[in-house]
Amino acid sequence: MLDVAIIGAGPAGLTAALYAARGGASVRLFEELFPGGQIVKTHRVENYPGMSDGPDGYELAARFEKHTAQFGVTAEYTAVKQLILSDSQKEIILSSGETIETKTVILAMGASPRPLGIPGEKELLNHGISYCATCDGAFFRGRTASVIGGGDTAISDALYLSKLCKKVYVIHRRDELRASAILADAAKNTENIEFVFNSIPEEFLGEKNLSGIRLRNTKTGELSVLETDGAFIAVGIIPRTDLVQGQIKLAPNGSIETDEHMETSVKGVFAAGDIRNTPLRQVVMACADGAVAASYAIEAGRQ
Ligand code: NAP
Repeated sequence: MLDVAIIGAGPAGLTAALYAARGGASVRLFEELFPGGQIVKTHRVENYPGMSDGPDGYELAARFEKHTAQFGVTAEYTAVKQLILSDSQKEIILSSGETIETKTVILAMGASPRPLGIPGEKELLNHGISYCATCDGAFFRGRTASVIGGGDTAISDALYLSKLCKKVYVIHRRDELRASAILADAAKNTENIEFVFNSIPEEFLGEKNLSGIRLRNTKTGELSVLETDGAFIAVGIIPRTDLVQGQIKLAPNGSIETDEHMETSVKGVFAAGDIRNTPLRQVVMACADGAVAASYAIEAGRQ
């Protein structure tokens, strides 16, 4: 029987794989899309210790992947269709139909961008609307783009887009940013970034392509239209817990509850990274979670 099955090859899953394999466990790592998770959406990671060159998210993900491969684990790119998780039995069913029995599981599926859920959002997705500035920013070179949100993602995205676009609006529902001071100050000092505070998007406008955003002022209720070629939605993330719904205890915010060993409410099932109820969503935390989860998964597998 397999010792450790890891689902998700972001920083948490890749680190867990490295630690588990280095610790002598048999490991399989499953990833649906590509390695790196949310960090591939980051144009510069400047707060991961030792990476003072500030690699972009792709580069850092590639370095993590290469390092994990040195310990003999490479991700299997396949979708996990179903998880059967209980204290006494753990099964992973892949979309190919293969069923894997494992002693322990590390859930590292991360999180997805939260949609705004307003008219025009689904219809104009990829026609001006995007959830990933580093993926789609180049389409708006020399044009006008807007970022919605006031957190670290929104402000990092605005800074990235400011280098490509003629003008970048940051639309935020309050007049105070949630983002860390270093990012907020950089954005405030960037000439072609303009803040549109106390404003909530009500509708994305445009026939085939996005042409503007209908905004409501949260203080006055006044409606206005902001013309923009692109809109990047960065209003937070939703933990990807679909596969474990009803099987594992979740926190009120929808993320997975763990103890300090990263163990969930099911014995031998661990969670690491953005999927976990964590006080800080940063790469360094995801890696640390992965290391802790792997260490205790090895121990749990021996019992
Ligand atoms: P976040 O910190 O949850 O921020 C979400 C932003 O969207 C907030 O400003 C929020 O407004 C706004 N918002 C939420 N729902 C909204 C709605 N329905 N309409 C309009 N605005 C809405 O999410 P995030 O920026 O994606 O960051 C997620 C985590 O990753 C954070 O822990 C962050 O620190 C981390 N992260 C770190 C870095 C970095 O260190 N470089 C980069 C990216 C992300 P309010 O402020 O009013 O609540």
